[in-house]
Amino acid sequence: MSKAPAPAPAPAAPAEPAAPVEEKKPEKKEKPKAPKRRIQVHKLYKIDGDSLTRQRKDCPRCGKGYFMAHHGNRLTCGHCGYTTYTQKS
Ligand SMILES: [Zn+2]
Repeated sequence: MSKAPAPAPAPAAPAEPAAPVEEKKPEKKEKPKAPKRRIQVHKLYKIDGDSLTRQRKDCPRCGKGYFMAHHGNRLTCGHCGYTTYTQKS
């Protein structure tokens, strides 16, 4: 008794897209970093002969030695964040 070989079922080929989809990432533009500027402490003082004058105001919260930074319309303490606004006249 010989059995006729059954017709092989057609292999179910999964319909997959052969070509892999390339993911395009948006190119990141690197910003040119500004060079860090160190504060030039010697510019905060002015020496006239024997007398020394401070060019910046002291921070009222932190006391002497903490100078306020000039930012256009305001003075800011970098230590505690104290800010005073200078009114334009
Ligand atoms: Zn301060």
